[in-house]
Amino acid sequence: MLYSVNTIYLKHLQHVTIRTIISTSRSLSCGISPETPFIQSRGYERSWQYARLQRANFHTTQRLHVSPFTVLLVCSALPIGAIFTGSYARHFWIKLTPIKQQQYKKWYWERRNTFFGSLSLFSSLLLIYWLTHLERDVVEKRRRFIMFDKDQQAELGTTIFTMLLTKHRNEVIPINDPMYLRLSRILRKLVKSNKEVFENTEWTVSIVNEPSPNAMALPGGNVIVFSGLFDIIQNDDQLTFILAHEMSHVMLSHVVELFSYKVITEIVYTIPAFLIWACFSKWKAFVLYLGVGLLHNIFFVYPYKRRVEAEADKVGFRLAAKTCIDLREVLIFWELMERYGELTGENKFAIPLLLTHPSHKKREKWLARQMPGVLVLRDQAGCPDLPLIDPRDKLSRYLEELEKRFHERNMFETFFGK
Ligand SMILES: [Zn+2]
Repeated sequence: MLYSVNTIYLKHLQHVTIRTIISTSRSLSCGISPETPFIQSRGYERSWQYARLQRANFHTTQRLHVSPFTVLLVCSALPIGAIFTGSYARHFWIKLTPIKQQQYKKWYWERRNTFFGSLSLFSSLLLIYWLTHLERDVVEKRRRFIMFDKDQQAELGTTIFTMLLTKHRNEVIPINDPMYLRLSRILRKLVKSNKEVFENTEWTVSIVNEPSPNAMALPGGNVIVFSGLFDIIQNDDQLTFILAHEMSHVMLSHVVELFSYKVITEIVYTIPAFLIWACFSKWKAFVLYLGVGLLHNIFFVYPYKRRVEAEADKVGFRLAAKTCIDLREVLIFWELMERYGELTGENKFAIPLLLTHPSHKKREKWLARQMPGVLVLRDQAGCPDLPLIDPRDKLSRYLEELEKRFHERNMFETFFGK
């Protein structure tokens, strides 16, 4: 399965990633000019073929390899199965005569130890599985639950990347666009300044023509940047931080951790889902089921997502500092994002408890607090002192330019009915 997906990926790349550039620590050590992006193609293909040969040589029997998407799909089906079996059990119970119900109650009561014993055994197995799949990441050394091996993680990243490129196949910007050169130069600088972190990761960049200022990085090292980001940022220092933030998500295994968490919670949620649909009438069960899901998101999923964003900000800030950027530009970037949020109206409707990212203001304040420590890191990396002119003095001009660009684009979109 792993190789079939990668074969699709490679075939797909022949058509699409002529627009994709790659920057690796290996390429740097080979002395390729930082200005020269090279196209991800044969070399990468050969490395996969080599991996395939290695596997053929050293494993006489094929190891069971389950796709992470199959695991997620099966586990997501469990609560749905629980809803149907719970509803059926309720329906079956209601139709029984009182005598029959008493007989079943008696039958259950005599076997209650077996039921509770099985439940305890199941919970213990899950707990043991969880404890034996805790891994420390390479940067923060925080323990996190990761249920996928390296092959599965690579497959997860490749599959999401292929899906995204397929979705945006008509919007992928060609490789000859100057934005690639700019990104490639920054990426190489980040890798060179943080060799100890990025040593074994191959990075690719794709730019998608989308107006929202967004970027993402997937397990395995594929970075996708939306062109709208270039309307917000004012210089390469800000862009360096954004790339460093996205690359930190990969090094901290955030996507893999989130997928692992999703799988385990789907399994755990099966029993409460069954009980809700077995004990309550259809509408009450429906409301309760949705309510429990919402509360789970509010108290666990969204705080987790906000926490990993803060973690990627913190690590990305440090990684970017080692490339000698003016760190004050990062604070300006969050000011610009805040203004963008006001212009689009998205800040107005933001409910703090339902946010998957911390607010831009919070991120700015949180990074400003880290500034003294990160400046020391920057000094230790041998960077020159920060420029005497504080770039924050230019903030009002930056904000004006952003507003102008935003209104021009809006007029353009209105005129062409986009
Ligand atoms: Zn992020």
